[in-house]
Amino acid sequence: MALPRDGLIQLTPQGLYCPAADAWIDPWRPVPRALITHAHADHARPGSGAYWAVASGEGVLRQRLGQAIALTAVDYGQELKLGDATLSFHSAGHVLGSAQIRLSAGAETWLISGDYKRDADPSCAPFEPVHADVLITEATFGLPIYRWQPGREVASEILSWWKAAPERPSLLFAYAFGKAQRLLAELAALGVEEEVLLHGAVQTLMAPYRSQGIVLPPTRPVSELPRSESLAGRLVIAPPSAHRSVWMKRFKAPQTAFVSGWMAVRGARRRRGYERGFTLSDHADWDGLLRSVHDSGARQVYVTHGNSDGLARYLREQEGIAAEPLQGAFEVEHSGEDGVAGGVEPLG
Ligand SMILES: [Zn+2]
Ligand SMILES: [Zn+2]
Repeated sequence: MALPRDGLIQLTPQGLYCPAADAWIDPWRPVPRALITHAHADHARPGSGAYWAVASGEGVLRQRLGQAIALTAVDYGQELKLGDATLSFHSAGHVLGSAQIRLSAGAETWLISGDYKRDADPSCAPFEPVHADVLITEATFGLPIYRWQPGREVASEILSWWKAAPERPSLLFAYAFGKAQRLLAELAALGVEEEVLLHGAVQTLMAPYRSQGIVLPPTRPVSELPRSESLAGRLVIAPPSAHRSVWMKRFKAPQTAFVSGWMAVRGARRRRGYERGFTLSDHADWDGLLRSVHDSGARQVYVTHGNSDGLARYLREQEGIAAEPLQGAFEVEHSGEDGVAGGVEPLG
């Protein structure tokens, strides 16, 4: 299914495009003007002429795309004029600085969800419901089997797992940007004041988070520790790409766990060779997707990523909402953060 030719947003080879603003949203290739929902690698790509993104995510975005990018940093809810369009960024609750992008021109308003979640997350602003005539939503976890447990509870289970092994290092694998900081913030909320050790890929993101006032436990890169120091009883957070890499040689008999929405899929943990799996996602679960469609009040919904067919069919058949899957490069593009499973599985 393609977007209507006369619509406010069109699908081009570079990605979603708004002719009225002459700007692309999370373009797949370099373009003159890019509106960025958030700094994950599958949404924020280098090489574009000018960028617009939320100010709280500026630190991470510049780190990933280069300090010299031409960036207009905007606040949530701030209205901008670009060509004939009015646009604003609204919190998506996904990661620090993540946004849904609202565009209007003429009598029509469209909302592009980007990645989002409805669950509480102390490392970023909460999701803001936004009205629109037409909604383009992601559906990474668009099946009724996906229902998330609160992040605080998952963090509490992780804390117990860590503390139950004082004689071993506890290696926790999580996406370097977003998930790792969410876990750290949840641990801080649970009263953890002990230093947590980090892989370099996670370490580089700590400064942008701390500069935004996110409360986190003390952290240190593992590489700064003297070789002689015992790592027994220490919690170490690393990206999935470090699992079974030479980086792991440093640790004697570690216990390992992976934190991801994909841990809800039977057999995923064993397939990847982790001892434990904790299910925690920065995407909306089934109820969160439905709730967001309802909250938008949209008369037309286009669904990208993951189970786009299933969610669109459910909305049409069960709720009488005009909904269609939107085919494009979304499936292929929405993957590969931290080299997860060779880029086969999307970000969880
Ligand atoms: Zn994302
Ligand atoms: Zn994504």
